[in-house]
Amino acid sequence: MEPIIEEMLMANPEGIAHRLRLTYTRSNFLLNPLRIAEYHGITVKAADFHKGDIKGIIKKDDSCIFLNDRDSLNQKRFSLAHELGHYFLHFPQSDAFICTQAFFEVNGIHDLNDDEKVRAIVELYANRFAMALLLPFDEVYREWHLADTIEHMADRFGVPVQIVSHRVCEMRNLGFSL
Ligand SMILES: [Zn+2]
Repeated sequence: MEPIIEEMLMANPEGIAHRLRLTYTRSNFLLNPLRIAEYHGITVKAADFHKGDIKGIIKKDDSCIFLNDRDSLNQKRFSLAHELGHYFLHFPQSDAFICTQAFFEVNGIHDLNDDEKVRAIVELYANRFAMALLLPFDEVYREWHLADTIEHMADRFGVPVQIVSHRVCEMRNLGFSL
């Protein structure tokens, strides 16, 4: 594996996201990823991508993130957190990422060739970062016992329902009693 890829994979998405939450949320339950982007001089714009199922793009040269204008607010919030994941985890090793729906659904790396595997792992890390930023373990655990449906949890956290389901599954695998 190329050294640059190894470097990318040494990053700790949960740890970095946790530190950012401590810096930006203080007493607020709901973190606004726009504030993090603004603080780091990243411009966030909505764009009509026309072709393909693109959710978000981040470009290092212009310090810009583009989000799919057709997506729901909650999806845009998650897409923004995902692109920030690339910013904090995968720059300066790469100059740009174009992220499609398929990358947001990466769960494993079986049956992929080496190039696809590297890209899939990078996307997994960006997703893990986004979930850690918007759905921290302790808050999800608390809400799970307060909210009556997963849809209410999704509203509360401001993310798509499938992202909450994914996080809950991940936490169960880690031994949380949910
Ligand atoms: Zn991505």
